[in-house]
Amino acid sequence: MIPARFDYVAPATLEEALAALARHGDDAKVIAGGQSLLPVLRMRLNTPEVVIDLGKVEALRGVRDDGDAIVVGAMTTHSDVYHDPLVRENALVLTRAIEQLADPQVRHRGTFGGALAHADPAGDLGAPSLALDAQFVVAGQGGERTVEAADFFVDLFTTALADDEILKEVRIPKRPGWGAHYEKFVRVAHQWPIVAVAAAVKLDGGTIGEARVGLTNMGSTPLRARSVEQALVGQPATDEAVRAAAASAAEGTNPPSDLNGDADYRRHLATVLTRRAVLAAAGA
Ligand SMILES: Cc1cc2nc3c(=O)[nH]c(=O)nc-3n(C[C@H](O)[C@H](O)[C@H](O)COP(=O)(O)OP(=O)(O)OC[C@H]3O[C@@H](n4cnc5c(N)ncnc54)[C@H](O)[C@@H]3O)c2cc1C
Repeated sequence: MIPARFDYVAPATLEEALAALARHGDDAKVIAGGQSLLPVLRMRLNTPEVVIDLGKVEALRGVRDDGDAIVVGAMTTHSDVYHDPLVRENALVLTRAIEQLADPQVRHRGTFGGALAHADPAGDLGAPSLALDAQFVVAGQGGERTVEAADFFVDLFTTALADDEILKEVRIPKRPGWGAHYEKFVRVAHQWPIVAVAAAVKLDGGTIGEARVGLTNMGSTPLRARSVEQALVGQPATDEAVRAAAASAAEGTNPPSDLNGDADYRRHLATVLTRRAVLAAAGA
């Protein structure tokens, strides 16, 4: 289908983009890489009167070092995040997740901020961001505010962003030297995950000193498997110990049932994929 008619503006600065958003309110929609919004417009699931393209706002692009954190601009493409050495060194689980996100064409157009703002529960970037305690810097006409990852994802396709706000950048605390893995379960290549698990571990010798585990598509938002994280601390990175800790991965989750699998199957997958993800992250 062809999208409903809309006006198009392409501001050069964040301030201009925010002013346009404030002017048009509910009638406007920002577009980043368009990889999720364009299908929505074509299916006429959303019919904004004005589309505000963030493509020319250079200040929203790139990854920078900010002391104890790295900062990823919302308009940085998946491909650029994937190839960024700062990300690989300090937030390896993101690199591992993007490696498996869609196909090269989508990774060259789609953006880090667009994927997170879209808040698809099957999206691959929510769980790693949550596991890493990312902070979302949100800009509005009144200034900026910072939203913790645990508060950013509110529900299915719903975030803490207000209609007149733009996600500016995401701040991720550095974790150099951590092992990481993203275990994604799909039926065919380049699919959204049926379930996926993001794992990052810090090893002290052969023992797990700290662990972060995020779950994709196990509820209406990305989830943290905190009981697994706690059970892993102080354990050797062996199959037996990790298997025992991973057994509680589905605790407190509310996975969907659909043609790809029912909720019980997803709960089973969560434990299996958590074991695989943690062992791979630990290099075991
Ligand atoms: C064929 C295909 C396969 C895919 N496979 C996967 C996959 O396996 N895993 C996966 O995670 N994703 C997948 N995607 C989605 C991909 O990751 C998109 O890049 C992403 O969901 C949206 O990013 P975008 O930059 O294209 O955002 P857009 O489509 O431009 O925007 C998406 C939404 O976010 C809003 N938005 C965008 N940027 C901002 C901002 N800075 N501030 C506030 N709101 C904003 C828009 O208004 C819109 O509502 C796939 C997409 C396609 C087309």
